[in-house]
Amino acid sequence: MSEMLKYFRENRLPHIWCPGCGHGTITGALVRAITKLKLDKNRIVVVSGIGCSSRAPGYLDFDTLHTTHGRALAFATGIKLSRPDLKVIVMTGDGDSTAIGGNHFIHAARRNIDITTIVMNNDIYGMTSGQYSPMTPTGMFGTTAPYGNVERPFDLAKLAIASGATYVGRATSYHAQLLEELMEKALLNKGFSVIEAVSQCPTYFGRKNKLGSAVDMLNWYKERAVNVKAAAVMAPEKLEGKFLIGELFNQPAPEYTASYDALVDGVRRKFDTFQGGVRECAQNSD
Ligand code: SF4
Ligand code: MG
Repeated sequence: MSEMLKYFRENRLPHIWCPGCGHGTITGALVRAITKLKLDKNRIVVVSGIGCSSRAPGYLDFDTLHTTHGRALAFATGIKLSRPDLKVIVMTGDGDSTAIGGNHFIHAARRNIDITTIVMNNDIYGMTSGQYSPMTPTGMFGTTAPYGNVERPFDLAKLAIASGATYVGRATSYHAQLLEELMEKALLNKGFSVIEAVSQCPTYFGRKNKLGSAVDMLNWYKERAVNVKAAAVMAPEKLEGKFLIGELFNQPAPEYTASYDALVDGVRRKFDTFQGGVRECAQNSD
């Protein structure tokens, strides 16, 4: 515990999240993963957008950046390109990363830039009082879906994989141990990693959908989540209404900043050779 505390800004606590919110559990899992990996806190940058989830970096004692709505990955990309030696982590929400930030999300994945992205998915815009998001399941309620959401939600993991992410996992705040293990692997992956951390929002999503207390919501996750390894041997009808957790994708590919640096080095070498040739010609003609 004391080892973990060094990663927190204790003077910023207690946090502002509602009692029973899942975001604290997810932030705790990330800090435990960082502690286990013994990462140097002076070489970690945590970037967030806007929303309840995006308040998390404010409590963490790294170099942190609380940016504009949906733009965490754009800021993080700039940081990683200028300082590829740093460990860059993005903490974002379902609304922040898949609505206004959706384009940044797919392109960061396509580039396979070495950023670990934690998407705290509570199926709703919590901070602005419960509007439905692109990840609200069909038929569920929000303040802007008073008769039920008619849209189909993104499957974030599939979106990330199809866009080019090289490490993708999912767990819930009920499965905190698994969450921590997935985060550890995501932090070690040299490329774009996405962890969908399903998180209860009893205040809005829970209340609007009559899901009960935070504990009831955790049980709701427990009943619906199936580990991908167990699912592999289950009949498709047994998986109806369930969602998969665990390591969903792990396939290395060239990382963007490494490829970019190699390109710059190659161009510089060619330019130096050319300059050398020009100088030689000039001396010969003297
Ligand atoms: Fe958490 Fe929901 Fe409260 Fe936001 S509104 S702090 S997501 S419980
Ligand atoms: Mg949300």
